[in-house]
Amino acid sequence: MDDVKFVLDENELPKKWYNVNADLPKPLDPPLHPMTLEPLGPEDLAPLFPMECIKQEMSPERYIDIPGEVRDVLRLWRPSPLYRARRLEKLLKTPAKIYYKWEGVSPPGSHKPNTAVAQAYYNMKEGIERISTETGAGQWGSSLAFATKLFELECMVYMVKCSYEQKPYRRIMMEAWGAKVVPSPSELTDAGKAILKKDSKCPGSLGIAISEAVNDAMAKENTHYSLGSVLNHVCIHQSVVGLEAKKQLEMAGEEKADIVVGCVGGGSNFAGLAFPYVHDKVNGADIDIVAVEPMACPTLTKGTYAYDYGDTAKMAPIVKMYTLGHDFVPEPIHAGGLRYHGDSPQLSLLVSEGVIRAEAYHQIECFDAAKMFAETEGFLVAPETSHAVKGAIEAALKCKESGEERVIVFNNSGHGHFDLAAYDAYHQGKLVDYEYPAELIKQSLKNLPDVGGN
Ligand SMILES: *Cc1c(COP(=O)(O)O)cnc(C)c1O
Repeated sequence: MDDVKFVLDENELPKKWYNVNADLPKPLDPPLHPMTLEPLGPEDLAPLFPMECIKQEMSPERYIDIPGEVRDVLRLWRPSPLYRARRLEKLLKTPAKIYYKWEGVSPPGSHKPNTAVAQAYYNMKEGIERISTETGAGQWGSSLAFATKLFELECMVYMVKCSYEQKPYRRIMMEAWGAKVVPSPSELTDAGKAILKKDSKCPGSLGIAISEAVNDAMAKENTHYSLGSVLNHVCIHQSVVGLEAKKQLEMAGEEKADIVVGCVGGGSNFAGLAFPYVHDKVNGADIDIVAVEPMACPTLTKGTYAYDYGDTAKMAPIVKMYTLGHDFVPEPIHAGGLRYHGDSPQLSLLVSEGVIRAEAYHQIECFDAAKMFAETEGFLVAPETSHAVKGAIEAALKCKESGEERVIVFNNSGHGHFDLAAYDAYHQGKLVDYEYPAELIKQSLKNLPDVGGN
């Protein structure tokens, strides 16, 4: 009756991914080529991605088979546990029931290997030898380093410079799995050189690092590029999170989830938990689905729904999404993985259609929430994840006001064991809240490409 942990058998690891494309209220606008501004065909993406991922990107199928070799790796830590946060509920004196899906059990410590493993596998199958990528806080780079090692591929990581300097342990972890890691902007690519020429002290951003990694993959025949978030196939691979969570909530005796919460950088961990619930919501279920982002990079709450480049150097495809402008460089908040100017096109469409809503919080109040979580549930979450914790606590406090016993489930996307410097700064009162960057956003939104009704 008082269970706190809901655990599925290994053989209950989902055999199919869920694809929200099948349930969108209207079709996505097509991605456009960054040079020609024409709709992209599969052949345009082939220098960057394996054909299987490109197919998934455009697939209308609701369910897609997970290859056996991918499931065999996911089995190392999946199904991940679902917890009931009983101590946190008690502290908050809320009638709500708070559940969280714990993705920190993977070897790199977050949800990201759910897609890294699938992408490495499809690249290996296609005969690719090397994968280039970008990383913010280092979570994605370490996930891809881990996955490529298991499938015997080389891994080249462009790491956002301010994170490279703040977080050496993630770099070391990537190197332990055999990856090569450089700070971005770097002198290794034309994209990096151009930015350093303008600003030699540039702290970097995910947008810039993406340009470098794409540049690298385009220049080498044996190399593909891999993105850890934003794209449809990434959101598909993350759906194991929500598919498992649904079964686990059933085990816990809950009829349904009432409130689903996740933090959003590019949208993948949020999509992983929330999209399987979008399926229920578009079929009539009453569910409040809440995406939480940082006030320093408030894409969904303050951005514009428009076509924009995926990266700063305009090399990645142009997609319709909520954006702050491709040359927006956010302040160096500790949640490095949430410093992206855009968002998943699927998530963006669902926000624009009112199926999903968004909230933004400052970093100090998110650390307050993470601290409260650590003191009750024990887990020390990543700075990114602290936004989801904050969102869940806010929802639980609203239930306290209204006296409603609602079921809240949030995605606890990863641990913060390599982010202790951020906790240290918080403890010493050295964390700062950056003002909402209204003027910067206004400026960068002037540079959207002149296409598709922009
Ligand atoms: C990367 C990361 C995020 C943000 O990325 P999404 O693609 O939006 O999920 C959130 N939490 C953790 C722990 C991360 O590593």
